Amino acid sequence: MTVLTGECDGCGSKDGVLIGTGKGGTDYHCAKCIQDLALYDAAEQHMELLLGEALRAWVIAWGNNPQMMRLLGSIVGDAVAHMQQEGPQHGR
Ligand SMILES: [Zn+2]
Repeated sequence: MTVLTGECDGCGSKDGVLIGTGKGGTDYHCAKCIQDLALYDAAEQHMELLLGEALRAWVIAWGNNPQMMRLLGSIVGDAVAHMQQEGPQHGR
């Protein structure tokens, strides 16, 4: 028998409910963690839409060169670190 409520896999609260993971599995999540998961999925899809094709084209052109792949990692890492320090820049 499937248990419909349980401990949240995200935060450990006692008010988790059974949800599908989208990969055929199930987890328990509370309402706050379900909102966080939905927001994360939306942000992931948005990033893929904005950057996916450009990055795939760049990797096709430069991906066989380890030095260029290190450059990509450095640029992405620097950009993420900068955004974490400065916060999101809306409307600029
Ligand atoms: Zn939770």
